[in-house]
Amino acid sequence: MFDLLALTLAGQVPIEQQGENANLHWHWLGEGLLEITPQQDYRQAVVLSAGIHGNETAPIELLNQLVNDLLSGSRTLAVRLLVVLGNPAAMRAGKRYLHSDMNRMFGGRYRDFDHSGETARAQQLEQAIAEFFADEDAARFHYDLHTAIRDSRLPRFGILPFQTRPYSAEMLALLDAAELDALVIHSAPGGTFSHFSSEHAGAASCTLELGKARPFGSNDLQQFAAINRALQTAVSNEPLPQRAGDTLRLFRVERSLIKRSEDFRLHLSDDTANFTELKQGTLLCEQPGEEYRVQHASEWILFPNPGVALGLRAGMVLIEAPRSTLY
Ligand SMILES: [Zn+2]
Repeated sequence: MFDLLALTLAGQVPIEQQGENANLHWHWLGEGLLEITPQQDYRQAVVLSAGIHGNETAPIELLNQLVNDLLSGSRTLAVRLLVVLGNPAAMRAGKRYLHSDMNRMFGGRYRDFDHSGETARAQQLEQAIAEFFADEDAARFHYDLHTAIRDSRLPRFGILPFQTRPYSAEMLALLDAAELDALVIHSAPGGTFSHFSSEHAGAASCTLELGKARPFGSNDLQQFAAINRALQTAVSNEPLPQRAGDTLRLFRVERSLIKRSEDFRLHLSDDTANFTELKQGTLLCEQPGEEYRVQHASEWILFPNPGVALGLRAGMVLIEAPRSTLY
Protein backbone atom coordinates (compact mmCIF):
# COMPACT_ATOMS: atom_id res chain seq x y z
CA MET A 1 0.00 0.00 0.00
CA PHE A 2 1.04 3.61 -0.58
CA ASP A 3 3.01 4.79 2.50
CA LEU A 4 3.98 8.46 2.44
CA LEU A 5 6.59 8.24 5.21
CA ALA A 6 8.31 5.12 3.83
CA LEU A 7 8.44 6.66 0.34
CA THR A 8 9.77 9.93 1.67
CA LEU A 9 12.45 8.31 3.82
CA ALA A 10 13.50 6.20 0.81
CA GLY A 11 13.57 9.31 -1.42
CA GLN A 12 11.40 7.47 -3.93
CA VAL A 13 8.95 8.71 -6.52
CA PRO A 14 5.86 6.44 -6.28
CA ILE A 15 4.82 4.47 -9.37
CA GLU A 16 1.18 5.11 -8.55
CA GLN A 17 0.72 8.81 -7.83
CA GLN A 18 -3.01 8.86 -7.29
CA GLY A 19 -5.79 6.59 -6.23
CA GLU A 20 -9.17 6.45 -4.54
CA ASN A 21 -11.48 4.52 -2.28
CA ALA A 22 -15.24 4.88 -1.69
CA ASN A 23 -14.67 7.91 0.55
CA LEU A 24 -11.76 9.85 -0.97
CA HIS A 25 -9.21 10.28 -3.67
CA TRP A 26 -5.56 11.04 -3.08
CA HIS A 27 -2.86 12.64 -5.17
CA TRP A 28 0.89 12.63 -4.51
CA LEU A 29 2.03 16.17 -5.34
CA GLY A 30 5.77 15.74 -4.85
CA GLU A 31 8.20 14.68 -2.18
CA GLY A 32 6.43 14.59 1.20
CA LEU A 33 3.26 16.20 -0.20
CA LEU A 34 -0.08 14.41 -0.36
CA GLU A 35 -3.47 15.92 -1.12
CA ILE A 36 -6.54 13.93 -0.10
CA THR A 37 -10.02 15.04 -1.13
CA PRO A 38 -13.29 13.56 0.11
CA GLN A 39 -15.76 12.30 -2.50
CA GLN A 40 -18.49 14.16 -0.59
CA ASP A 41 -18.88 17.91 -0.03
CA TYR A 42 -16.68 19.37 2.68
CA ARG A 43 -16.70 22.56 4.76
CA GLN A 44 -13.07 22.71 5.82
CA ALA A 45 -9.69 22.65 4.08
CA VAL A 46 -6.94 21.55 6.45
CA VAL A 47 -3.15 21.44 6.16
CA LEU A 48 -1.38 19.10 8.57
CA SER A 49 2.39 19.37 8.54
CA ALA A 50 5.25 17.76 10.44
CA GLY A 51 8.97 17.34 9.94
CA ILE A 52 9.77 20.99 9.23
CA HIS A 53 12.46 19.98 11.73
CA GLY A 54 13.63 16.61 10.44
CA ASN A 55 14.38 14.95 13.79
CA GLU A 56 10.95 15.66 15.30
CA THR A 57 9.79 12.18 14.57
CA ALA A 58 6.73 11.51 16.74
CA PRO A 59 4.37 13.94 14.96
CA ILE A 60 5.62 12.63 11.59
CA GLU A 61 4.68 9.11 12.65
CA LEU A 62 1.30 10.26 14.00
CA LEU A 63 0.51 12.06 10.79
CA ASN A 64 1.54 9.10 8.66
CA GLN A 65 -0.65 6.77 10.71
CA LEU A 66 -3.59 9.13 10.19
CA VAL A 67 -2.96 9.09 6.42
CA ASN A 68 -2.72 5.29 6.39
CA ASP A 69 -6.02 5.04 8.29
CA LEU A 70 -7.66 7.31 5.72
CA LEU A 71 -6.24 5.57 2.65
CA SER A 72 -7.09 2.09 3.98
CA GLY A 73 -10.66 3.20 4.60
CA SER A 74 -10.57 2.56 8.34
CA ARG A 75 -11.14 6.29 8.97
CA THR A 76 -13.55 8.55 7.06
CA LEU A 77 -12.34 11.82 5.58
CA ALA A 78 -14.71 14.79 5.89
CA VAL A 79 -12.34 17.67 5.04
CA ARG A 80 -10.07 18.48 2.12
CA LEU A 81 -6.60 17.67 3.41
CA LEU A 82 -3.01 18.53 2.51
CA VAL A 83 -0.37 16.49 4.33
CA VAL A 84 3.14 17.96 4.39
CA LEU A 85 6.33 16.24 5.53
CA GLY A 86 8.38 19.40 5.71
CA ASN A 87 12.09 18.64 5.40
CA PRO A 88 12.64 15.15 3.89
CA ALA A 89 16.43 15.54 3.53
CA ALA A 90 16.77 16.36 7.24
CA MET A 91 14.35 13.53 8.14
CA ARG A 92 16.59 11.06 6.27
CA ALA A 93 19.64 12.41 8.10
CA GLY A 94 17.87 12.39 11.49
CA LYS A 95 18.69 16.07 11.93
CA ARG A 96 16.76 19.20 12.80
CA TYR A 97 18.05 20.74 9.56
CA LEU A 98 21.02 20.29 7.23
CA HIS A 99 21.97 23.91 6.53
CA SER A 100 19.54 26.39 8.08
CA ASP A 101 16.37 26.26 10.16
CA MET A 102 13.44 26.22 7.74
CA ASN A 103 11.03 27.52 10.34
CA ARG A 104 12.60 30.99 10.13
CA MET A 105 12.41 31.14 6.31
CA PHE A 106 8.75 31.47 5.45
CA GLY A 107 7.06 34.57 4.08
CA GLY A 108 9.88 34.98 1.55
CA ARG A 109 12.55 35.18 4.27
CA TYR A 110 14.39 32.29 2.54
CA ARG A 111 15.85 35.06 0.34
CA ASP A 112 17.80 36.29 3.38
CA PHE A 113 19.55 32.92 3.80
CA ASP A 114 22.39 31.35 1.81
CA HIS A 115 20.85 29.20 -0.92
CA SER A 116 20.40 25.59 0.22
CA GLY A 117 18.06 22.64 -0.09
CA GLU A 118 16.10 24.19 2.75
CA THR A 119 15.59 27.59 1.10
CA ALA A 120 14.36 25.79 -2.02
CA ARG A 121 12.04 23.57 0.03
CA ALA A 122 10.58 26.52 1.95
CA GLN A 123 9.75 28.21 -1.34
CA GLN A 124 8.19 24.98 -2.64
CA LEU A 125 6.06 24.60 0.50
CA GLU A 126 4.83 28.19 0.21
CA GLN A 127 3.68 27.39 -3.34
CA ALA A 128 2.02 24.17 -2.21
CA ILE A 129 0.07 26.04 0.49
CA ALA A 130 -0.91 28.83 -1.90
CA GLU A 131 -2.14 26.33 -4.51
CA PHE A 132 -4.01 24.22 -1.96
CA PHE A 133 -5.96 27.20 -0.65
CA ALA A 134 -6.40 29.01 -4.01
CA ASP A 135 -10.10 29.47 -4.83
CA GLU A 136 -11.03 27.45 -1.73
CA ASP A 137 -14.29 28.64 -0.16
CA ALA A 138 -14.15 26.24 2.80
CA ALA A 139 -12.80 27.38 6.17
CA ARG A 140 -8.99 27.14 6.19
CA PHE A 141 -6.82 25.56 8.89
CA HIS A 142 -3.15 24.68 9.30
CA TYR A 143 -1.63 22.74 12.20
CA ASP A 144 2.18 22.50 12.10
CA LEU A 145 3.34 19.72 14.42
CA HIS A 146 6.65 19.80 16.31
CA THR A 147 8.41 18.38 19.34
CA ALA A 148 10.86 20.39 21.44
CA ILE A 149 14.52 19.68 22.18
CA ARG A 150 14.53 20.96 25.74
CA ASP A 151 12.42 20.13 28.74
CA SER A 152 9.32 22.19 29.35
CA ARG A 153 7.47 22.95 32.59
CA LEU A 154 4.37 23.02 30.42
CA PRO A 155 5.14 20.10 28.08
CA ARG A 156 2.51 20.59 25.37
CA PHE A 157 1.78 24.00 23.96
CA GLY A 158 0.63 25.85 20.88
CA ILE A 159 2.11 29.00 19.39
CA LEU A 160 -0.34 31.27 17.61
CA PRO A 161 1.01 33.54 14.88
CA PHE A 162 0.65 37.30 15.24
CA GLN A 163 -2.46 38.42 13.41
CA THR A 164 -4.79 41.42 13.61
CA ARG A 165 -7.99 39.42 13.07
CA PRO A 166 -9.45 37.32 15.92
CA TYR A 167 -8.27 33.72 16.32
CA SER A 168 -10.66 31.07 15.02
CA ALA A 169 -13.05 29.78 17.70
CA GLU A 170 -13.10 26.39 15.96
CA MET A 171 -9.31 26.16 16.12
CA LEU A 172 -9.24 27.19 19.78
CA ALA A 173 -11.82 24.52 20.61
CA LEU A 174 -9.63 21.90 18.95
CA LEU A 175 -6.50 23.09 20.80
CA ASP A 176 -8.43 22.94 24.06
CA ALA A 177 -9.62 19.40 23.33
CA ALA A 178 -6.06 18.39 22.41
CA GLU A 179 -5.15 18.83 26.11
CA LEU A 180 -2.46 21.42 25.43
CA ASP A 181 -1.06 22.93 28.63
CA ALA A 182 -0.61 26.42 27.20
CA LEU A 183 -1.00 28.73 24.23
CA VAL A 184 1.51 31.45 23.39
CA ILE A 185 0.46 34.41 21.23
CA HIS A 186 3.17 36.01 19.10
CA SER A 187 3.34 39.80 19.23
CA ALA A 188 5.04 40.31 15.85
CA PRO A 189 5.20 38.63 12.42
CA GLY A 190 7.76 35.85 12.00
CA GLY A 191 9.22 33.35 9.56
CA THR A 192 7.37 30.25 10.76
CA PHE A 193 5.33 27.99 8.52
CA SER A 194 2.20 28.67 10.56
CA HIS A 195 2.70 32.42 10.35
CA PHE A 196 2.92 32.12 6.57
CA SER A 197 -0.39 30.30 6.22
CA SER A 198 -2.09 32.78 8.55
CA GLU A 199 -0.76 35.90 6.86
CA HIS A 200 -0.65 34.80 3.22
CA ALA A 201 -3.46 32.23 3.01
CA GLY A 202 -5.85 33.51 5.69
CA ALA A 203 -5.78 30.15 7.47
CA ALA A 204 -6.44 29.64 11.17
CA SER A 205 -3.04 28.25 12.04
CA CYS A 206 -0.95 27.14 14.97
CA THR A 207 2.49 25.67 15.66
CA LEU A 208 2.10 22.76 18.08
CA GLU A 209 4.91 21.66 20.40
CA LEU A 210 3.94 18.21 21.60
CA GLY A 211 6.71 16.94 23.87
CA LYS A 212 10.24 15.63 23.38
CA ALA A 213 11.66 14.06 20.21
CA ARG A 214 13.22 10.59 19.91
CA PRO A 215 14.51 8.60 16.88
CA PHE A 216 11.97 6.98 14.51
CA GLY A 217 10.37 3.92 16.05
CA SER A 218 11.31 4.86 19.66
CA ASN A 219 8.45 7.22 20.34
CA ASP A 220 5.88 6.50 23.00
CA LEU A 221 2.90 7.52 20.88
CA GLN A 222 0.65 7.17 23.92
CA GLN A 223 2.14 10.47 25.10
CA PHE A 224 0.56 12.02 22.01
CA ALA A 225 -2.85 10.38 22.40
CA ALA A 226 -4.81 13.58 23.03
CA ILE A 227 -3.49 15.49 20.01
CA ASN A 228 -3.89 12.36 17.91
CA ARG A 229 -7.52 12.06 18.96
CA ALA A 230 -8.14 15.78 18.28
CA LEU A 231 -6.65 15.54 14.77
CA GLN A 232 -8.69 12.41 14.04
CA THR A 233 -11.89 14.21 15.02
CA ALA A 234 -10.84 17.23 12.94
CA VAL A 235 -10.32 15.29 9.70
CA SER A 236 -13.42 13.14 10.21
CA ASN A 237 -15.62 15.97 11.50
CA GLU A 238 -16.51 14.07 14.68
CA PRO A 239 -17.42 15.76 18.00
CA LEU A 240 -14.32 16.92 19.88
CA PRO A 241 -13.37 14.96 23.00
CA GLN A 242 -14.00 16.60 26.38
CA ARG A 243 -10.94 18.17 27.97
CA ALA A 244 -9.88 16.25 31.08
CA GLY A 245 -6.80 18.16 32.28
CA ASP A 246 -6.24 21.57 33.88
CA THR A 247 -7.42 24.74 32.18
CA LEU A 248 -5.34 25.87 29.22
CA ARG A 249 -2.99 28.69 30.22
CA LEU A 250 -2.50 31.66 27.94
CA PHE A 251 0.68 33.69 27.45
CA ARG A 252 1.81 36.37 25.07
CA VAL A 253 5.30 37.26 23.93
CA GLU A 254 6.37 40.30 25.93
CA ARG A 255 9.81 40.61 24.38
CA SER A 256 12.15 38.83 21.98
CA LEU A 257 15.76 38.73 23.16
CA ILE A 258 17.76 39.64 20.06
CA LYS A 259 21.47 38.83 20.06
CA ARG A 260 23.22 41.97 18.78
CA SER A 261 26.78 41.28 19.99
CA GLU A 262 29.14 38.33 20.38
CA ASP A 263 29.31 39.49 24.01
CA PHE A 264 25.63 38.67 24.50
CA ARG A 265 25.17 36.87 27.85
CA LEU A 266 22.04 35.00 28.85
CA HIS A 267 22.00 34.38 32.61
CA LEU A 268 20.27 31.00 32.45
CA SER A 269 21.85 27.55 32.50
CA ASP A 270 21.91 25.71 29.17
CA ASP A 271 19.32 23.20 30.32
CA THR A 272 16.75 25.74 31.51
CA ALA A 273 13.29 24.35 30.76
CA ASN A 274 10.77 26.22 28.65
CA PHE A 275 8.21 28.09 30.80
CA THR A 276 10.65 28.46 33.69
CA GLU A 277 9.22 31.27 35.81
CA LEU A 278 11.44 34.32 36.39
CA LYS A 279 10.88 36.78 39.22
CA GLN A 280 10.80 40.57 38.93
CA GLY A 281 14.21 42.23 38.94
CA THR A 282 16.17 39.16 37.80
CA LEU A 283 18.97 40.10 35.40
CA LEU A 284 18.11 37.89 32.42
CA CYS A 285 20.50 38.97 29.69
CA GLU A 286 23.04 41.64 28.82
CA GLN A 287 25.13 42.86 25.92
CA PRO A 288 27.09 46.10 25.45
CA GLY A 289 24.77 49.06 26.06
CA GLU A 290 21.78 46.92 27.01
CA GLU A 291 20.52 44.74 29.82
CA TYR A 292 17.17 43.12 30.46
CA ARG A 293 15.72 42.61 33.91
CA VAL A 294 12.39 40.90 34.50
CA GLN A 295 9.80 43.70 34.51
CA HIS A 296 6.61 42.04 35.73
CA ALA A 297 6.00 40.13 38.97
CA SER A 298 6.53 36.97 36.92
CA GLU A 299 7.76 36.35 33.41
CA TRP A 300 8.45 33.04 31.68
CA ILE A 301 11.28 32.05 29.33
CA LEU A 302 10.66 30.26 26.02
CA PHE A 303 13.26 28.77 23.62
CA PRO A 304 16.39 30.20 25.31
CA ASN A 305 19.33 29.78 22.93
CA PRO A 306 22.29 32.19 23.31
CA GLY A 307 24.17 30.25 20.60
CA VAL A 308 22.16 31.76 17.72
CA ALA A 309 23.77 33.89 15.01
CA LEU A 310 23.94 37.67 15.43
CA GLY A 311 20.64 39.39 14.72
CA LEU A 312 18.59 36.31 15.59
CA ARG A 313 16.36 35.62 18.56
CA ALA A 314 18.12 34.12 21.60
CA GLY A 315 14.88 33.55 23.49
CA MET A 316 11.45 34.95 24.22
CA VAL A 317 10.06 36.38 27.43
CA LEU A 318 6.37 35.69 28.08
CA ILE A 319 3.75 37.13 30.36
CA GLU A 320 0.46 35.50 31.24
CA ALA A 321 -2.46 36.99 29.31
CA PRO A 322 -6.25 37.02 29.77
CA ARG A 323 -8.43 34.89 27.50
CA SER A 324 -9.83 38.09 25.95
CA THR A 325 -6.45 38.57 24.20
CA LEU A 326 -7.59 35.94 21.69
CA TYR A 327 -10.59 37.84 20.37
ZN1 LIG B 1 10.34 21.92 15.59
